[in-house]
Amino acid sequence: MECIFCNIVEGKSEAEVIFEDDNLIAFLDIQPINYGHTLVVTKKHYDNFLTVPSEELTHIINATQFIAGAVKRSVNADGFNVITNNGNSAGQTVYHFHFHIIPRFNADFNFKPRFKNYATGGMKEYADSIRSIVSKYKDIYNG
Ligand code: AMP
Ligand code: ZN
Repeated sequence: MECIFCNIVEGKSEAEVIFEDDNLIAFLDIQPINYGHTLVVTKKHYDNFLTVPSEELTHIINATQFIAGAVKRSVNADGFNVITNNGNSAGQTVYHFHFHIIPRFNADFNFKPRFKNYATGGMKEYADSIRSIVSKYKDIYNG
């Protein structure tokens, strides 16, 4: 299947590349939330966060830290988000794993955030459910 990020990795499509090594490429998002919005993309095609091999993920997280520092400094941002959208419901539109680095400014968040409140006892129920899955699979986690 045609993948825009694979095309960029292979040099078939243009991008404003800001960093590259053997495993990853970082370039500017064409529809930035703020100027300097950068994508850090694996050179190999993985559909999402869950399918990136552990060693490669470690490498990409370290590189993302380095690149985020450069982006923040370059645009003199007050802060930044590092996020990855996974699945249509989470806003993923390109099914090739990437981190977003989004520079943020104090004025960006001048709106009232909307939080959900857990019902009484609900927080423990959610935590119990996640804990039971964590304990079931913790032996195959090698971190
Ligand atoms: P996501 O929605 O998390 O999958 O993020 C995909 C991002 O890729 C979006 O923010 C798009 O604006 C961006 N994007 C799509 N095509 C290109 C492209 N050719 N060059 C740079 N960024 C792109
Ligand atoms: Zn791809």
